[in-house]
Amino acid sequence: MKTVGVVGAGVIGACIAFSLAQRGMRVHCVEPAQPGGLTTDVSFARLSAVQQPTYARFELSHTGMIEHLRFAGQFDSAPWWHPTGSVAWGDDEEGGGHGSGPSFADVVHRLAAWGYRTVWSDAARVNRAWEPGIAFPHAGTPVVLFPDEGWIDGPKLVSEMLAAAGATGRLTLWNDAVGGIEVRGGEVRALRLEAGDRIEVDAVVNAAGPQAPTVAAMVGTAPLGGVATRSSLVIDLLTDGDPVRHVLRGSQAHARSAGPGRVRVRSEQVDARLPAGAQADPGDELVKDLLERAYRTIPALESATVDRVRVGTAVFPGDGFPSLGALSAVAGYYEAFANSGITLAPFIGRTLATHIATGEIHPLWSRCSPDRLRAAS
Ligand SMILES: Cc1cc2nc3c(=O)[nH]c(=O)nc-3n(C[C@H](O)[C@H](O)[C@H](O)COP(=O)(O)OP(=O)(O)OC[C@H]3O[C@@H](n4cnc5c(N)ncnc54)[C@H](O)[C@@H]3O)c2cc1C
Repeated sequence: MKTVGVVGAGVIGACIAFSLAQRGMRVHCVEPAQPGGLTTDVSFARLSAVQQPTYARFELSHTGMIEHLRFAGQFDSAPWWHPTGSVAWGDDEEGGGHGSGPSFADVVHRLAAWGYRTVWSDAARVNRAWEPGIAFPHAGTPVVLFPDEGWIDGPKLVSEMLAAAGATGRLTLWNDAVGGIEVRGGEVRALRLEAGDRIEVDAVVNAAGPQAPTVAAMVGTAPLGGVATRSSLVIDLLTDGDPVRHVLRGSQAHARSAGPGRVRVRSEQVDARLPAGAQADPGDELVKDLLERAYRTIPALESATVDRVRVGTAVFPGDGFPSLGALSAVAGYYEAFANSGITLAPFIGRTLATHIATGEIHPLWSRCSPDRLRAAS
């Protein structure tokens, strides 16, 4: 039986730990913080392939969405999974876009051509049938429903995966940080934890999210190249009732339920103005801007109470593909980080566990090799 160390228990590390344990491997998952409490908790966490600009990236995200459906079906209940569908619209009656890229209508037509389920409607019908609370730009604004989208409660998915892995008797969860990875003879041998423990492993998976480049440096190869981070302002509001039923991708703000009596909002326009390293300050002008955009989109939110204002940071390989699989320079070292990590986590978990157990490489991994990020440095 192989022993595998997993660095990080965000959504990706937790899904990997579950899949490894399910395949009979011994797993040591190391996490210094609350599992699922960092990027995974702040995430907008929409299941979607809409933002992918090329067919290859779309196919990966779409597969991730389908994997969530299969994955949820493995359990008696899947309290993390909210297949609400989503509702999206552009700026004007002609279906104008969200910025300088292709128009909203062009994006939707491209998605439909790629096999994404899209249902066209208009503002009046959507208000009548699906979402009474949205203030659309015009009564005739074209609106599209993406029925296969939804959102994930990331921390809930993490806790359920760790519990399911724990129930196999093959998971040890360490509340500590990995401070070093021992490599001898070109092979991973052990993890060194900051509190002093040493864990012998046959393999290690770097699932440290935004900290992945720091963990990668521990195996002493060329530094990661072309990997950036992106930040996003997210506000949770406490609402009277549940004014948002679907995931909303409006021209001014995005919104979704975050559980009963709770709505999460963000805005691409606000994020575009967010300075690098910004902190979440409730009195900030960008916070006010986001709230105003959210109120213009769903007027009932104006009476909601601001609960939490946070800035989330996601790791972003420049070509948009995850870093997924083995690094050829160090036997037993694997990477698993991605910028649409919520959508991809169960797919990453299953395919990586299969790869570690059998050596098989999923065909959709062809552009995901960790080696390419060293070549770029
Ligand atoms: C605002 C925002 C909106 C987003 N919206 C979406 C969306 O709509 N759909 C989507 O699919 N994705 C979205 N994403 C991206 C998605 O949230 C992330 O890709 C995903 O949460 C990453 O999960 P992770 O497990 O890789 O990282 P994390 O959740 O950050 O987990 C990594 C863990 O590694 C741990 N760690 C770090 N260093 C060490 C160490 N040395 N030793 C041990 N542990 C360590 C950390 O403590 C952390 O818990 C969004 C991200 C943000 C910020």
